Amino acid sequence: MKCAACATGEAVPGTTTITVERDGTTLLLKAVPAHICDDCGEDYLDAEVLAEVERIVETAVDSGVELLVRDFPVSR
Ligand SMILES: [Zn+2]
Repeated sequence: MKCAACATGEAVPGTTTITVERDGTTLLLKAVPAHICDDCGEDYLDAEVLAEVERIVETAVDSGVELLVRDFPVSR
């Protein structure tokens, strides 16, 4: 798919690392499946991946952890 950020690159399947900060909790999620622009590096996450990220964030915030680093779970 064409990249919406730079309009010249192509977003190809891959993985990315994302950080989320909320309510004093910082999450570093590695190996998150995404489409990555081969030109500018913009990443695009699928709706189901975003929902899973949101679930992880909420769990971490609820447990009051300050910093969480983990590999993204592979859901099959
Ligand atoms: Zn791009």
